[in-house]
Amino acid sequence: MNYDAVIIGAGLAGCSTALHLARHGHQVALLEKQRYPVHKLCGEFLSVETQGLFSRLGVLDAVLKAGARPITQVRLTTGGGTTYESGLPGSALGLSRYQLDAILLRHAQNAGVAVWEGLAASDVVGSLDEGFQVTTREKTFGGRVVIGAYGKRGALDRKLNRPFMKERSPYVGFKAHFEGIQLGEWIEMHAFPGGYCGLSPVEAGRTNVCWIGHETTLKQNGGDPSSMLHAMGEANIALQQRLDVLQQVSPSFKAVSQVAFSPKTAWAHDICMVGDTAGMIAPMCGDGMAMALRSAEIASPLLDRFLNGQMPAAGLRNQYERSWGREFGLRMRLGRWLHHAYGRPGVAKFGVSLCRRVPAVGNWFIRHTRG
Ligand SMILES: Cc1cc2nc3c(=O)[nH]c(=O)nc-3n(C[C@H](O)[C@H](O)[C@H](O)COP(=O)(O)OP(=O)(O)OC[C@H]3O[C@@H](n4cnc5c(N)ncnc54)[C@H](O)[C@@H]3O)c2cc1C
Repeated sequence: MNYDAVIIGAGLAGCSTALHLARHGHQVALLEKQRYPVHKLCGEFLSVETQGLFSRLGVLDAVLKAGARPITQVRLTTGGGTTYESGLPGSALGLSRYQLDAILLRHAQNAGVAVWEGLAASDVVGSLDEGFQVTTREKTFGGRVVIGAYGKRGALDRKLNRPFMKERSPYVGFKAHFEGIQLGEWIEMHAFPGGYCGLSPVEAGRTNVCWIGHETTLKQNGGDPSSMLHAMGEANIALQQRLDVLQQVSPSFKAVSQVAFSPKTAWAHDICMVGDTAGMIAPMCGDGMAMALRSAEIASPLLDRFLNGQMPAAGLRNQYERSWGREFGLRMRLGRWLHHAYGRPGVAKFGVSLCRRVPAVGNWFIRHTRG
């Protein structure tokens, strides 16, 4: 089966790249190892700029119709009882990935993308000059370009020998939906030693509780995410007050390990990487989904020109790498720094107090960790 583009992974980056390319008349195959709809681990906070990105993609109406909740205020708390509150520079949204990814996949299908669910890519060989072969358990797909949109870390990264795979990360993440409180238009981020926990409103009056923490905290709590969550509450009274009234509605927690923010590359073996596969920003910034959509927006016109014979392979490689660095380089560095700072009780307390006393500092961080 031969296509102009084979896209591996149907998250935000993969679906939006597929949509852009299909609308420019290209034959696109989109491979997704899971079957949708499916719950995914994420804070489910869609930063302010996603509205523009959704609108340009033609999916904003569907996102709002699915019950996305407006979020206009942010509250940060620390274990020492310090709180910082601020308005966001516009309206963000809260919507589950269960809904969101299915909406994007449906739009891609409607635009003529050949979607293959339940099919994981296991190997890629080839080059921009010669074309590619993407192997799955059942079929092999030929493509003039291959786009890696398979998320933060996967078996393909090992196969491609990407350097960040040699590093080990001690961070684990969990998420589940709860009922029992109405956050209104607020997102909350509660710090505790080694990590932080976000509470965000999503559709149907539910609250998404998602946290990232150190694996030792999980081990100290017998490997049980519920116990870990309550231990985090004991370290932060504001979080504890929330947990006292929240009731879990998801049957289980979604979990992820090895959450790392080391620099990656926008290309590997001539595969064009988008979204988390090109680089993952710390969840603290709440901007990973916007970056996934935006990286697709940057890559797609360049891929389109290459596929139309208007740009050589070398130009495509250079221009995408340069544009990616220009757009996301500073954000990624700030995100790494904030992630480590917010998980350290002393630094988190100092930072949150500083933002309270000098709101311009908080506003600067909010502005510079997003597009
Ligand atoms: C704890 C935590 C909280 C977060 N909270 C937020 C937040 O509140 N707001 C925000 O903006 N960002 C948040 N993020 C970041 C955000 O989730 C990611 O940046 C975003 O999902 C990236 O989208 P993506 O399309 O690149 O990857 P993904 O959404 O991960 O999609 C990748 C897709 O590829 C599929 N796949 C993987 N391997 C293969 C394969 N071999 N073959 C076929 N398919 C494959 C996967 O099943 C998946 O569907 C958070 C991240 C973490 C870890």
